[in-house]
Amino acid sequence: MVCSICEVNDIEFFFGKYCKECRRLKHIINLFSLDKVMSVLSCVLIVNEETQLQQIKEELKTELNTREYNLRKKKNKDKDDTK
Ligand SMILES: [Zn+2]
Repeated sequence: MVCSICEVNDIEFFFGKYCKECRRLKHIINLFSLDKVMSVLSCVLIVNEETQLQQIKEELKTELNTREYNLRKKKNKDKDDTK
């Protein structure tokens, strides 16, 4: 029989309803409350479009800075080699 939460894995015990992972998930929900778990999941997993765009911009900026630094380093090294 398949787990009633993820509907993917087999149930852990034949008299149970959940797989091992989902039983742990249920345990975490019982510990922290459903609201808390949902808000953490929303923050971590569900990224809105604006945040994604911002992250892409930051990535590009970092990439450009790294390339510029490497180019400058190479240029300086070349200069030193010609001396
Ligand atoms: Zn499951």
